[in-house]
Amino acid sequence: KMQGMGNGKEEKILVLVRLRPLSENEITRNEVADWECINPTTILYRNSLQERSGLPTAYSFDRVFRGDCATREVYEEGTKDIALSVVGGINSTIFAYGQTSSGKTYTMNGITEYAVADIYDYIQRHEERAFVLKFSAVEIYNEVVRDLLSTDNAPLRLLDDPERGTIIEKLTEETLRDRKHLKELLSTCAAQRQIGETSLNETSSRSHQILRLTIESSAREFLGKDNSTALAASVNFVDLAGSERASQALSVGQRLKEGCHINRSLLTLGTVIRKLSKGRHGHVNYRDSKLTRILQPALGGNARTAIICTLSPSRSHVEQSRNTLLFASCAK
Ligand code: ADP
Ligand code: MG
Repeated sequence: KMQGMGNGKEEKILVLVRLRPLSENEITRNEVADWECINPTTILYRNSLQERSGLPTAYSFDRVFRGDCATREVYEEGTKDIALSVVGGINSTIFAYGQTSSGKTYTMNGITEYAVADIYDYIQRHEERAFVLKFSAVEIYNEVVRDLLSTDNAPLRLLDDPERGTIIEKLTEETLRDRKHLKELLSTCAAQRQIGETSLNETSSRSHQILRLTIESSAREFLGKDNSTALAASVNFVDLAGSERASQALSVGQRLKEGCHINRSLLTLGTVIRKLSKGRHGHVNYRDSKLTRILQPALGGNARTAIICTLSPSRSHVEQSRNTLLFASCAK
């Protein structure tokens, strides 16, 4: 079982909840905010109309962040240690999970930026080691994997490598020259990411995005001589597709198919994470979705994982918010 943050011991899956503030639009529509973080670990649903519904009103997690918390605070207190473990050779994954418009992309963009800055800062302070940084990015849409660094839209195949596990065939992996280079690649990804329309949010994403930063290093004095100082690990920043049900978005045809694929991969992710969080041995069904196959080396085992569940405070989103907290509770 996970033990708080930052003590580095037996940490498995860190479950964080981030409430966003009501948007200007929601305020204009007189939406009511019903969720409140009453302390650093508890979030409460307060709605006098629903008090007797029998549904839980308080939910506890490793950490909950109020609507007025800056992303910097979520990063520092929630995910910094996990992101930085990559420089020490430990794989990690940071997910954003939640319904469309709850703040996944907003949160992940900020966290990725802060993590990259800290990683570069670390490298500068450790001149005794030589570092090589590589970056790759994929989108998974309808169980089809695409390279976000390539203009070629061809689906990528997953292959099983006996030594390295699942690898993505023909994936572009850029060796980074500097921070500016990475910044350019990040904007390429943002531009490439599939967007479509639903009744929920015009620019919502129904695809999963995985940004992967791989860091290899070895002690300079042994460079090219002794492999025993070499370390390699990846940190994955995962912006998941909206968790709302296909039906919620009044989906038909193509949209419904997307919804089913999204549900399947999120369901598989939930099952995998639940098994890992319970420390259960035996079969973990990584292979049931492309998302979990790709992330397998960075989930479970020695890897460190954080899930940031993003939540809309609005009364009209309560059903989705409860679903998100249910997912979050299962991951604990
Ligand atoms: P998602 O990726 O889950 O669909 P977004 O990250 O696009 O949601 O957020 C939806 C909108 O809400 C965006 O305009 C974003 O800037 C805003 N937003 C999200 N989270 C916050 C926050 N914590 N503070 C302020 N604005 C936020
Ligand atoms: Mg988004």
